[in-house]
Amino acid sequence: APSPPPTRHHFSDPAEVEALRGKLLAWYDRCKRDLPWRALAATEPDADRRGYAVWVSEVMLQQTQVATVIDYYNRWMQKWPTLQALAQASLEEVNELWAGLGYYSRGKRLQEAAKKVVSELGGHMPRTAEALQKLLPGVGRYTAGAIASISYGQATGVVDGNVIRVLCRLRCIGADSSSPAVIDRLWDMANALVDRSRPGDFNQALMELGATVCVPKAPLCGECPVKQHCRARCRKLFGKPAPVPDVEDCGVGDCPLCPPATEPWDSSLGVTNFPRKAAKKQPRAMRTATCVLERRGCRGGPEYLIVQRPSSGLLAGLWEFPSLPLAQDLQEEKEREVLADHLQAWMGQPVAAKGLQFIGEVIHIFSHIHQTYVVYSLPLDGDVTLDPACSPSRWVTWEEFHASAVSTAMKKVL
Ligand code: SF4
Repeated sequence: APSPPPTRHHFSDPAEVEALRGKLLAWYDRCKRDLPWRALAATEPDADRRGYAVWVSEVMLQQTQVATVIDYYNRWMQKWPTLQALAQASLEEVNELWAGLGYYSRGKRLQEAAKKVVSELGGHMPRTAEALQKLLPGVGRYTAGAIASISYGQATGVVDGNVIRVLCRLRCIGADSSSPAVIDRLWDMANALVDRSRPGDFNQALMELGATVCVPKAPLCGECPVKQHCRARCRKLFGKPAPVPDVEDCGVGDCPLCPPATEPWDSSLGVTNFPRKAAKKQPRAMRTATCVLERRGCRGGPEYLIVQRPSSGLLAGLWEFPSLPLAQDLQEEKEREVLADHLQAWMGQPVAAKGLQFIGEVIHIFSHIHQTYVVYSLPLDGDVTLDPACSPSRWVTWEEFHASAVSTAMKKVL
């Protein structure tokens, strides 16, 4: 099919694209943050190690701030400097190191994929975005593009949240930025824009611009290296869409990239009119009763009982205090009773509901769940035999608890 004529949402002038690449790369060379994975990607001579180093960083950075990731990344690369080392790790070790970083399935999938590279691909990372996405479980289009461009110099673009924001602003894309039509167009744009001789640096520059200058709420347009190419800024300064030579005006109301007619440009928002997203779904509310069982350990200090979660689903394989999801409208007395029954199954002996001491509530927000932990405590006298037929369980000291693969929510509970 013939391509549609260029509109104000396109980069249709090759000279402009060349200028934008040059300005962005020069800014990146001057202003980029020193990050451990960048140093490794730039200096590591072994291609497989380079790909692995970038892969780990990209997985950790999904949904997590750079400042939080740095320490986890350094510890991870120290413990498992190669794919081969990671392939030999246990899930328990991976969960322990990952504890506190959130979205725990990321670590698990990374380790499973490392095993596959070692056992099925001879220990060698695939070298192109297409092969990375096809052969490595858990590696999606973005991560594949990032590894291939940064580690192997493939001229392929990337689209993440930062790139979406920058491109939508540069080209006044105001349709729902999570819609397939917009996402497809942004990938086309990223692939067309990427610098052919420095693709990895270009992609990182675009993401860095989104992370440090073209930020969501108060972008620093005055300091932006590509402000002359930004149509959102132009619109803000001149109050109407800038006339663009040689491009078609968007048809009113039927352009798939313009803001919907029902939500036109809002001059009080300026460049932050872009990008736009469909309203987020409200997180699901859940209540879970959890009980901190405490006994006196052999060295005199307190010990706590933790049990392991199932190996799939939310917080898979992590350890927690014995917990039980509750119906939303249970009375407190009833909550105690169901929790006491649940504990009885672990301990193989009757547990009196009135012995459970209510401590308080802990709220923790997962990406899609608003979780309230209703926290009880139960001090125990003497020894307790745990039923081995139930999930794995163990007694831990305070220090051991913090070194275990436990979620941030459970640390709050303790
Ligand atoms: Fe973002 Fe402003 Fe730069 Fe445009 S000029 S890309 S809105 S920081």
